[in-house]
Amino acid sequence: MTNNRFLFDTIVLGAGIAGVCTAWWLKKAGHRVLLVDKKGLLAGASGAAGAFLSPRLGKGGDLQKITNEAYRFALDFYAQKAPESFFQKGLVRLPKDEADAKRFIAYEPFIDVPFQKVTAEEFPHIDPEALRWGGFYFPDAAFVDPTGVAETLVRDIETAWGIEGPVRQTEGLWAVGKYRAKNLVLATGAAQLPMAIPYIQIGGVWGERVDVRSDAAIPVTLHQKLSVSANVDGFVRIGATHVRHDPRSEIERVNQLIVDAVKLVPGLKDQQIVRIFAGHRASVNDHFPLVGAMADYEAAKAKLGCAPKSLKPEDPAIPRIENLYIVNGFGGRGFVFGPLMGKIAAEKIVHDTSVDARISADRYLLRRLRKGR
Ligand SMILES: Cc1cc2nc3c(=O)[nH]c(=O)nc-3n(C[C@H](O)[C@H](O)[C@H](O)COP(=O)(O)OP(=O)(O)OC[C@H]3O[C@@H](n4cnc5c(N)ncnc54)[C@H](O)[C@@H]3O)c2cc1C
Repeated sequence: MTNNRFLFDTIVLGAGIAGVCTAWWLKKAGHRVLLVDKKGLLAGASGAAGAFLSPRLGKGGDLQKITNEAYRFALDFYAQKAPESFFQKGLVRLPKDEADAKRFIAYEPFIDVPFQKVTAEEFPHIDPEALRWGGFYFPDAAFVDPTGVAETLVRDIETAWGIEGPVRQTEGLWAVGKYRAKNLVLATGAAQLPMAIPYIQIGGVWGERVDVRSDAAIPVTLHQKLSVSANVDGFVRIGATHVRHDPRSEIERVNQLIVDAVKLVPGLKDQQIVRIFAGHRASVNDHFPLVGAMADYEAAKAKLGCAPKSLKPEDPAIPRIENLYIVNGFGGRGFVFGPLMGKIAAEKIVHDTSVDARISADRYLLRRLRKGR
């Protein structure tokens, strides 16, 4: 018999922004939810993030549409739920080089959020050289304080730190350490999944953020090959992502980040480094978020064979691992995706709502089955 103190409707494993938002929506829906992490709140990529909320540019494809829907949702969500940790300073997005400038011209007709074209007079704090190809200004863009947001959202949620498993099923419940729940959500970011799910491969891209103290007047955030936040109370965040195998040391990368930031915003030349953050952004190869119920791969292979083309994600014929869910694959936009994807995951768990095929975890099951492995 399970002690009621340790019994929940849902355990969310992983307290990054994915787990925090999913737990928040589950709690709102009336679930008794436990948020568990092997280290603590925002111990993974989410604690390192610059946490900029910026729209995606593109030619109107699905990834752009979904990202920008999540972006609009996230702006409202943080403004309402964590206003003291939400900084809506606007954002200037500049091309990295001439080829990128040509892409910007092609992207313009597809921009589906409020924007203006950038002029040098409006942004005198940016080096004129960086402005030579113009760019876009997004007045609604923002950034958040990750810790402030997470602490606010988990305020009414039960948490347990220092627990990572094993994760197992016992008497029809999921068990994590001494805790039991009907449902289990895997929100473990770039870490290895705590059980074998052969059709899901999550990769990681390393990134760094440096917080500096500066009195430079920087009224808006800037994105080019790196990001420089607006100056809030004398602090500026500088961030960048790196390729998977960057041979440079962390000191070399951080130094380069500062050099590049000063090139972009000359007023930063007298900055002082306050803190360096680093982490792995979890991503999947199609760059869409990964949300929904997990399939039983072996049972699916036996039942569905090579999965006919007519079979779509979320089809009721897909055999499931009962009450097991995932929220992951947020890439470099975890704080953009977190609120909306957490809501979609919670609706799946509470109401068994069908998940959009483009983000459903089933897309990877069907791809794998169709490869015949
Ligand atoms: C330097 C940097 C800058 C970034 N900048 C931005 C930005 O400007 N805007 C933006 O939107 N996004 C940004 N990102 C991306 C964003 O941080 C990620 O997309 C997001 O944090 C992913 O959240 P997550 O919850 O999926 O993963 P994580 O935050 O990594 O959380 C996963 C959690 O799971 C825990 N865990 C793992 N395995 C287990 C286990 N077996 N048991 C228990 N717990 C476990 C980990 O301890 C961790 O706390 C940035 C990332 C980095 C690294």
